[in-house]
Amino acid sequence: MAERILVTGSSRGIGRAIALRLAAAGFDLSLHCRHRSDEAAAVAETIRALGREVDVLQFDVGDRVVCREVLTAEVARHGAYYGVVCNAGLSRDGTFAGMSGDDWDLVMRTNLDGFHHVLQPLILPMVQRRRGGRIVCITSVSGQIGQRGQVNYSAAKAGLVGAAKALALELASRHITVNCVAPGLIDTEMLEGHGAIEEILAAIPARRMGTADEVAAAVAFLMGPDAAYITRQVLAVNGGLC
Ligand code: NDP
Repeated sequence: MAERILVTGSSRGIGRAIALRLAAAGFDLSLHCRHRSDEAAAVAETIRALGREVDVLQFDVGDRVVCREVLTAEVARHGAYYGVVCNAGLSRDGTFAGMSGDDWDLVMRTNLDGFHHVLQPLILPMVQRRRGGRIVCITSVSGQIGQRGQVNYSAAKAGLVGAAKALALELASRHITVNCVAPGLIDTEMLEGHGAIEEILAAIPARRMGTADEVAAAVAFLMGPDAAYITRQVLAVNGGLC
């Protein structure tokens, strides 16, 4: 039976590209979305056509109770995951002075609390499986250098790096690696309504946005056997923006 990987937020964008790459590399998948299950179902069809096993989970990564319920049932059904990609995320941009408490809370809950809510029910089964594993968290260049209008998002993504590095220390002796991939400006739906795109583009040495598939390639490398000795790292995919 093939190893199984959960990719959160894999109904579209970067998560979809990651799931398709991992399926092509021979992994079975648990896809995941919050609202747009029709999009996740379409990704699942594509993956089935590649001959891989796939199911679709639907829940809010910011809901601790539901995450535990769904993921515990999932482990009971399929066994422990080999890998998890914490990709689901969102932004609510605005200058800090005018930022609502709700926009702060939503961004922290989804991007940072989601790390806890998704991984906490999955780690012990991964350890008890005794066959090593992989965790990759999708952070952001905003968490590395800060981005105007994204104080909430930059804080959450920087927090994710700290959490991943600490978890890497706890799991290294179990042969479970924990790394981050930090995309720069990637051409997905998330950029709709993003105010500063021209300004950021001008600062990117490569002078273009990246693609979801370029991020997926980095994740697939970290998931694979060649990356067994890489842990506690942040791999930037950003055209030189730093
Ligand atoms: P998209 O908006 O295209 O996709 C986001 C995905 O996350 C969707 O599948 C969405 O599902 C899911 N999602 C969002 N909020 C939740 C939630 N609360 N619970 C469960 N699922 C949720 O974004 P991208 O593909 O661009 O982004 C993917 C990741 O990459 C994010 O973590 C983002 O922060 C990060 N990133 C993106 C960059 C970019 O330039 N695009 C740059 C740097 C980092 P649904 O549609 O059902 O809500």
